[in-house]
Amino acid sequence: MANFDALIIGAGFAGATVARRLAEAGRAVLVVEARDHVGGNAYDCTDEAGVLIHKYGPHIFHTPHKRVYDFLSRFTQWREYAHRVVANVHGQLMPVPFNLTSLDIAYEDRAPALAEKLLQVYGAERKVTILDLRKSEDPELAQLADYVYENIFKTYTMKQWGQKPEDIDPATTARVPVFLSRDDRYFQDPYQGMPQDGYTALFEKLLDHPNITLRLNTDAQEVLTLTQVGTTLVDGQAFHGPIVYTGAVDDLFQRRFGRLPYRTLDFVFETLPMEWYQTHGTVNYTVDQDYTRITEFKHLTGQVLPKKTTIMKEYSKAYTGETGQIPYYAVISPENKALYQRYADLAGEYPNLYLLGRLAEYQYYNMDAIVLRALELTDRLTERRGEK
Ligand code: FAD
Ligand code: UDP
Repeated sequence: MANFDALIIGAGFAGATVARRLAEAGRAVLVVEARDHVGGNAYDCTDEAGVLIHKYGPHIFHTPHKRVYDFLSRFTQWREYAHRVVANVHGQLMPVPFNLTSLDIAYEDRAPALAEKLLQVYGAERKVTILDLRKSEDPELAQLADYVYENIFKTYTMKQWGQKPEDIDPATTARVPVFLSRDDRYFQDPYQGMPQDGYTALFEKLLDHPNITLRLNTDAQEVLTLTQVGTTLVDGQAFHGPIVYTGAVDDLFQRRFGRLPYRTLDFVFETLPMEWYQTHGTVNYTVDQDYTRITEFKHLTGQVLPKKTTIMKEYSKAYTGETGQIPYYAVISPENKALYQRYADLAGEYPNLYLLGRLAEYQYYNMDAIVLRALELTDRLTERRGEK
């Protein structure tokens, strides 16, 4: 470790972005990654049938940040792709986010009058959260809010979080608002698409730098020791360079204050002897089934493969911390944030230790938010301003 200036734990978007930028600033960087591959949860690979799949859930890139788009564009070209999702409501398919087209499908003849009222109250192209729509005192809008709540949010949210929409962090359902528009894309960001050759290829380029050394199959615990007195040892030697940790923060401290709650997912893949299984990249099952959604990867990746397709069902459940389980979603609540803060404060006792990433920061961050945070952290680290 004497030869390294920085240690990065985890080779997902957080770790790989920091590694690249530090390497380009002339620092020698060691990246350790517990898995046998790079990419974190954005990793993709081909399955036995030759279909390019996302092993840890469907990942669609979208961002409002030009800086993020420009940075990643150095490592990939983009396939033009706008994600479109439909909800399966008792066999009827309607766009999600619920929009003016969904209204037509759900309300038929009564839709135009309702649409007019919605546009009058909220304005065209506006996004209204389901929790806000439910506050409407107009009886017709209140009835519509009930319809959307019952048919789009209630069952899906119970499956995904084990809780009702009104009991989870409001920012979570706000990700999928009611949209007073005919735009049926899942995201409205100016930059969106899929990496032309997949995410793993993007990561291989991102990490391909002479100043980066990558150790796969290596857990942080094998190299890093946090002493009682706020110092850090790497491979048993005192280490003063930046250490960027992107895993679960409760794991870093052996769950000293108790386990942080997360949701985990079981992914069930099926390859079928047909060109297409469904009309859209993702179909959300919002009123029935045990799984939340089915994704068909060929829609996302644009891969051309005759008479073969792979789909994936997602089943959500509480993370118990048992070996092999992966924490995917922080369960954000005031109580859990307070527990997280105890860990963050503990990490703060180590002047050269930085927590970065969806798990390490216990936040519901998309890929682009992580890349932005990684760029901003490395701005600070390379300008040697030193603040955490
Ligand atoms: P991760 O990708 O989790 O990477 C962390 C890495 O650190 C992992 O490789 C892990 O193995 C490693 N690690 C952890 N602990 C240790 C340790 N102790 N020692 C060594 N290595 C360790 N975002 C979007 O923008 N669009 C989407 O469509 C989208 N879809 C998603 C779908 C699902 C099902 C999920 C769960 C997330 C989705 N996301 C999406 C979010 C996206 O996955 C994250 O924003 C992004 O992967 C976070 O990157 P990260 O580097 O913080 O974490
Ligand atoms: N949601 C829902 N029904 C849907 C889509 C989303 O109830 O058809 C809610 C649900 O609580 C979900 C949240 O909105 O967890 C965020 O959805 P998103 O698609 O952003 O989740 P992700 O892709 O991150 O799993």
